[in-house]
Amino acid sequence: MIISGDWAILPGVKTLEHGAVHMNGSRIAEVGTKDALVAKYPEAILRHHPHCVIMPGLVNAHTHLALTALHGVVPLTGEFDSWIDHITRAVLALDGNDFAASAASGATDCLLNGVTLVGDIVYGAESPAAAGDIGLGGVFFWEVLGITPAELPDTLARIEFPATPADQCPSRTRCGLSPHAPYSSGPDLLRAMKRTATDLGVDFVIHAAESPAEMQLLASGDGPFAAKAKRLAHGFQAPGAGAIRYLDSLGVLDDAVVVHCVHLLPGEAHLLADKARGVVLCPRSNALLGNGRAPVRALLDAEVKLALGTDSAASNDDLNLFAEARALQALEPRLTTARLIRMMTEDGADVLGLGEHFGRLAPGYNADIIAVEVGDTGHPLEALLALGDPARIRMVVSGGVARALGGMPTFSTIPIRNAAAQVTSKAARAVRD
Ligand SMILES: [Zn+2]
Repeated sequence: MIISGDWAILPGVKTLEHGAVHMNGSRIAEVGTKDALVAKYPEAILRHHPHCVIMPGLVNAHTHLALTALHGVVPLTGEFDSWIDHITRAVLALDGNDFAASAASGATDCLLNGVTLVGDIVYGAESPAAAGDIGLGGVFFWEVLGITPAELPDTLARIEFPATPADQCPSRTRCGLSPHAPYSSGPDLLRAMKRTATDLGVDFVIHAAESPAEMQLLASGDGPFAAKAKRLAHGFQAPGAGAIRYLDSLGVLDDAVVVHCVHLLPGEAHLLADKARGVVLCPRSNALLGNGRAPVRALLDAEVKLALGTDSAASNDDLNLFAEARALQALEPRLTTARLIRMMTEDGADVLGLGEHFGRLAPGYNADIIAVEVGDTGHPLEALLALGDPARIRMVVSGGVARALGGMPTFSTIPIRNAAAQVTSKAARAVRD
């Protein structure tokens, strides 16, 4: 099959007028102009999308799909400390079936938003299973917190972290590990998680430098997170440093994916550039939780590899990555449209360690392709960023299979949404009671 549009976005965010992709099964075989590919493959079915940009499936590099049904359950009043306590109460009331229903709804949202690859935080195998079922790819990071290193092997077994992750994750997914955050995992657990990730050859992600409360805790040991850290982060002592320098002092920053980085102290952006694999920015979640604005200019100046994430639907309006990109551009006008689109595609895939398979329209890559309606324009990148929205996504193909056509999913979402609605009610009861 040949998929074409008025424009195609090629690696490096280069635009090709009348660009097209020739798909062979689940892979991209060739990229070129529509006329050239039609002439070369006259037998191939042609699916042309007029007034559309065709581009790689988007990469939402930080999600919590299993929390999707918690959208709206805890009001976003800008008080992070109280929000996290309420969300924790809701999460503790849910079981594996609830997480599965919630994750299926989140995976559906992702596809309908043009996202075909995620970096997702999970509590068990539900999210990768849901994603695998409907064709969403990703790296799924099993989250652990509040335990001692001695409890780690049993905990990983209990939450069904695959013993041989490379073999046991479904084909479009990879498994990783996350110790949540410096205030919920003690220094020895952070080190043990990093060591385990390295030994198993899986990716490692951590939330860090997210809130003023976290910074206060690290600086002086007190503030709103002091009681939480005492209960959860066994062995924690305030390092009197920023979060990034603290993680580096523990030896866990190397090749890590670091999420948020809203509050950086001098020198920490360069430390991230030197050691971490990349940083995922979540500007709308940061704003809605009252956590502040990431120092995008300092991150750009330090040449940190940047990706973009929505964070969970519980701390955002939706899982619309275009809206996330517009929010980030509003924070830092120096961020070019091309750079933002790179963050949403190839840089996102690179930060997740999947840049050789996802995030680019190039031969051999997964056939993850979306068509976004931009009208009649000579400036496709600008139009894409300004107009990008689920209502304009005319086609979503992942792994060579159409998941949405003409703006409609190709599978029934009714049972998925109904199951998620029940989880929402259950979570709302838990928060209320
Ligand atoms: Zn998060």
